[in-house]
Amino acid sequence: MDAQELLALDARHVWHPYAPMPGKVEPLLVTEASGVRLKLADGRELIDGMSSWWAAIHGYRHPVLDAALTEQAGRMSHVMFGGLTHEPAITLARTLVDLTPDGLEHVFLCDSGSVSIEVAVKMCLQYWQSVGRKEKRRLLTWRGGYHGDTFHPMSVCDPDGGMHALWRGTLPEQVFVPAPPDGFGAAPDQSYVDVLAAEIERHAHELAAVIVEPVVQGAGGMRFHHPGYLRALRELTAAHDVLLVFDEIATGFGRTGAMFAADHAAVTPDVLCVGKALTGGYLTMAAALCTPAVADGISRGELPVLAHGPTFMGNPLAAAVANASLGLLRERDWAAEVARLDAGLRAGLAPAAKLDGVVDVRSLGAIGVIQLDRPVDIPAATRVVAERGVWLRPFRDLIYTMPPYVCPDEDLATVTAAMVAVAEEC
Ligand SMILES: *Cc1c(COP(=O)(O)O)cnc(C)c1O
Repeated sequence: MDAQELLALDARHVWHPYAPMPGKVEPLLVTEASGVRLKLADGRELIDGMSSWWAAIHGYRHPVLDAALTEQAGRMSHVMFGGLTHEPAITLARTLVDLTPDGLEHVFLCDSGSVSIEVAVKMCLQYWQSVGRKEKRRLLTWRGGYHGDTFHPMSVCDPDGGMHALWRGTLPEQVFVPAPPDGFGAAPDQSYVDVLAAEIERHAHELAAVIVEPVVQGAGGMRFHHPGYLRALRELTAAHDVLLVFDEIATGFGRTGAMFAADHAAVTPDVLCVGKALTGGYLTMAAALCTPAVADGISRGELPVLAHGPTFMGNPLAAAVANASLGLLRERDWAAEVARLDAGLRAGLAPAAKLDGVVDVRSLGAIGVIQLDRPVDIPAATRVVAERGVWLRPFRDLIYTMPPYVCPDEDLATVTAAMVAVAEEC
């Protein structure tokens, strides 16, 4: 089949993310990817500024990851995880316990980020049920968050961005506090901490957990906040018998300049979710980790098991690639790599600050953002950056990049120049 036929079939049959059916905008047809480049059917090559939704931290076709996948496929691609276990999953759990903040000891492997949030919520609700406090079922979060597209995660996404009005009566109604004040470097605002304290105290009797994205709110708006708010949440939740869940699906594995965003605050949550970059962008896998206190609570219950078990739980191919990806992360000086990207993003995006219509330019670790005073024309932006040999996927008023950690300086400069061009032209 040639490219035209494939795209015609795609438009007729294939549903794309956040898209109408039939599709209105023709997607780019990708045939291969290697290093930081996507190869298109028409022969063009684009530098990937998105790391395939923040996952492909080592770039594409990395020889070590390819080898891990092939080798594991030669042993077994999958076996059920009920009653059976295997080395790739055991090694992965052990490594995650090592890498994550101290105190998280138990690992539930699952299929995707959204499912890991479902599992985290289930852990928290079941914990309170087990210890005889069934009324503690609600969640508190701050506005501006994103936690996935299945129903319980949707209920803690930003209520406006998550279009809660559409789902009134269907979504569980959670408690929302204002979004944290902007700025990783800005001094923490005590009056905001007072708001958190008042709301957590007021709702403590009905709250199972507070759930937030630490330091970076990703798909909800690419906003950064001071790690001090995480310390405040840790103290407040502990004081009021509420569990604390960190969603590190976007921030985990070095993206913000620390291995986990929680490390910026030196805080251990009761439950932590990872996903996205876990397998270096090769396969879908996520995990929810918890403390012994949470696990023990559940095990003391009427139903002393965590009632969850996806068919493809602990998939050996995904676990083997995750092990190889985490191995690369530990062998390489990832912190220096992210610091290099941080410097490149600052320098490359600085010219955008003085453009008309640019509201803010910000970066943290390997995340760079230009915010406009208007929604980005996405098809026009895609064209402008593709003409410069770059792939980006802006949303709302945000032009952003989360490049692979291996992105060379000159490719990063091409990406940032393309972002500035979008701010000027679209
Ligand atoms: C992407 C993301 C999710 C959802 O993960 P999926 O794998 O897409 O289900 C949840 N939380 C955050 C912070 C994310 O960035």
